[in-house]
Amino acid sequence: MFQSPVEGVTVVKKRIVIVGGGIAGMSAAHSLLERIGDAVEVTVVTKDPFYMAGPSRPLLLTGEQSYDRITRGYEEAAARGIKIVYGNVTRIDPGERRVYYTESPTRSYTSTSENSLDYDYLILAPGVVYDGSSIEGYREHWHRTASVYEPGRVDVLRSRVWSQNQGTVVVYAPPMPYRCAPAPAETALVIDTVLRHRGVRDKFRIVHVDANPKLQPPPLADTIAKIYEEAGIEFITGQKITEITANEVVLESGERIEYTILALVEPNRAPRFIADAGLGQAWIEVKSPEKPRTPSYDDILAAGDAAKLPFPKNQEIAYESALYASNTIIEEFGGEPASVQYTFLGWVYIGNRQGRLETLSIQFGLNFATKPPKPTKDTEPRRDYTMQKDRWEQSYLNRLYHPK
Ligand SMILES: Cc1cc2nc3c(=O)[nH]c(=O)nc-3n(C[C@H](O)[C@H](O)[C@H](O)COP(=O)(O)OP(=O)(O)OC[C@H]3O[C@@H](n4cnc5c(N)ncnc54)[C@H](O)[C@@H]3O)c2cc1C
Repeated sequence: MFQSPVEGVTVVKKRIVIVGGGIAGMSAAHSLLERIGDAVEVTVVTKDPFYMAGPSRPLLLTGEQSYDRITRGYEEAAARGIKIVYGNVTRIDPGERRVYYTESPTRSYTSTSENSLDYDYLILAPGVVYDGSSIEGYREHWHRTASVYEPGRVDVLRSRVWSQNQGTVVVYAPPMPYRCAPAPAETALVIDTVLRHRGVRDKFRIVHVDANPKLQPPPLADTIAKIYEEAGIEFITGQKITEITANEVVLESGERIEYTILALVEPNRAPRFIADAGLGQAWIEVKSPEKPRTPSYDDILAAGDAAKLPFPKNQEIAYESALYASNTIIEEFGGEPASVQYTFLGWVYIGNRQGRLETLSIQFGLNFATKPPKPTKDTEPRRDYTMQKDRWEQSYLNRLYHPK
């Protein structure tokens, strides 16, 4: 509750609950607090008591990035007035306007096993789940896979790449949409660099299997193919991995490739509680990218990678969709909306063909405000772009969580 300017009148604040304390969730929370903080109470419910950024995770393989630089806690955001609840959201009841959560893996506030939060507005920003269930043998052999996509699994990949002396590296990109389209190519190129650095590159075959018709993202397909040719990396497009065995992957065509290292990105989707609440199958359905309300419930909005948007799933788009979602609410309260449009500029790691652990990058972006979307690119590899990506990632973490 807050005291209104009219003496003696107490106003009940509207409750905005945000699921997911990642880039989208925290961007929405800050924007709401800044613009209509007097009229609303903003609560973020999120699984873990820390957030780890995604974009520079491939550099954990070369040792150019470290976990501590890309990890932040929520304490400072809480001190600024965002209510933070650690909990694992398991279901939503849109009719009752209630979110249910179980205790987070490491933190609890209550003695009950299932808790709930009531809302007036709900913003869903839970990111993605990596779902290997469509791949035969995944349940038995998942531990043979590794990926730059998740903490822990990056360490596994790093130790395999740094310890094996010969073999075949298979890198897999699942069907679009998945988050960060270039990350599988970045993985292949950074692994190539480490193997060169170790002087064992000629003892390895590197094969990138891509479920999509072209290497991703499409505006860089030819550039990446050329860099692959220079690096001696093979690629196969338009083929899903349908099965994993103890030492082989099987493609849709029936081709079998033996692997010693398997860097696999599973197909992505939104967490299951979204489908259970009738809000969409793989992704959260929205009425429009600029007013991302769900079709059946005006008080539920979606943002970030979990939302079904006609754009790539990346950090800039996650941030922009969060501003659009929060603006939709801000306008209802008569507040000043944040200025935003769908556009992004990013940097793609391409490793270092000299085998130096100093990753080079190329630049690329798309502006969706123009029709057709206007691409921007500079395919000249530069070290400076790698540094620029680091500054960009740090600026998000410093702004949304706390400076380091
Ligand atoms: C390896 C890698 C490389 C990338 N490279 C780039 C890049 O170069 N450029 C770029 O722009 N983007 C890149 N991205 C993508 C970028 O990180 C994502 O697009 C962005 O983080 C999406 O934001 P989000 O808020 O939707 O999801 P996230 O940032 O993942 O946040 C989701 C949050 O929700 C929480 N959550 C999930 N489920 C629940 C639940 N049931 N209950 C409570 N909380 C829950 C999670 O713990 C997390 O904190 C990369 C990502 C990865 C992994």
